[in-house]
Amino acid sequence: MGICQAFLLELSDAKSKPATLPSMRVRILGSAAGGGFPQWNCACPNCRALRAGTLRGKARTQAQIAISSDLRSWFLLGASPDLRAQIEGTPELHPCEHPGQAALRQSPIAGVVLANADLDHVVGLLLLRELQPLQVYATHSIRRILKEDNSMFAMLQRVPGQLAWNELVPGTMFPLRDPAGEDSGLRCRALSLAARYPAYVAASRQSELVPGQASLGLFVESPSGKRLAYLPAVPQIDDVLLKELGSSDVLLFDGTFWSDDELIRIQGSEGNPQTAQQMGHVPVSSPEGSLSKLAGLRRPRRIYVHINNSNPMLNEDGPEYRQVREAGWEIAEDRWQFDL
Ligand SMILES: [Zn+2]
Repeated sequence: MGICQAFLLELSDAKSKPATLPSMRVRILGSAAGGGFPQWNCACPNCRALRAGTLRGKARTQAQIAISSDLRSWFLLGASPDLRAQIEGTPELHPCEHPGQAALRQSPIAGVVLANADLDHVVGLLLLRELQPLQVYATHSIRRILKEDNSMFAMLQRVPGQLAWNELVPGTMFPLRDPAGEDSGLRCRALSLAARYPAYVAASRQSELVPGQASLGLFVESPSGKRLAYLPAVPQIDDVLLKELGSSDVLLFDGTFWSDDELIRIQGSEGNPQTAQQMGHVPVSSPEGSLSKLAGLRRPRRIYVHINNSNPMLNEDGPEYRQVREAGWEIAEDRWQFDL
């Protein structure tokens, strides 16, 4: 077994065509909100119809993005609970030997950037133990929640040189480096979006955390200056955010809920469901929703991600799906990839 098969394939592709390697490849490994689609305990119309095989729509795993500038080192945006299957389903992310290096544990995954501490965004970190060196980029507050309050994360730092935490400061650009410290050429910057921490963070701890470090939008710049925006949880759309989005080339945006009262309508009062806004998500529809608020954006390719199983736009025969597509938006599916 020689060097990565996936990389060899890319090289032979590049030889047969004049094309060079992309300056950033983006793979959408998962496109659903927490719980996935269908969700294990959900009998909403979407989940029921998908299980019955009567829905024109796709099953989806929990949101997960991977990016690379050289197709050898990959960085994950978030770490989903479905990460193990998502890695196995993606040949580029399989471990491989490199010439001159003896170690057998050679994952191409170099690091992880965390946008928030939601379970569907961080639990996958625990699946990346097994003594794999990794760089993790997170705000000071998110690091405290995971490291100081959740002792399981100590498994990621059993030996020196295993996982390196890098403090991410919102507003400040930083390079994504592999575990050996080599610069990937990718640059990342985070924008503070919300002061809301997940419900599992105790009130006493919340009072010690910095509000602006809770939930972020991530902007990744390729070596050629193209910008990817990844915002899986957006509580409101203001002028600062609009400006940032307008200068991006591809936008992966919060498509969690279609309407503010979506969960309440599905669940009734059972389980005390919250509105989309209470959960930190601007809905897709309504005058205050993203479809309307972002209608003026011309530059970026616009793609909804982090889609909850209850969202009617998952039904490709429905009026909501048609409305989104006619407005120029795409609805992300697992295993999509593109270059920018
Ligand atoms: Zn459902």
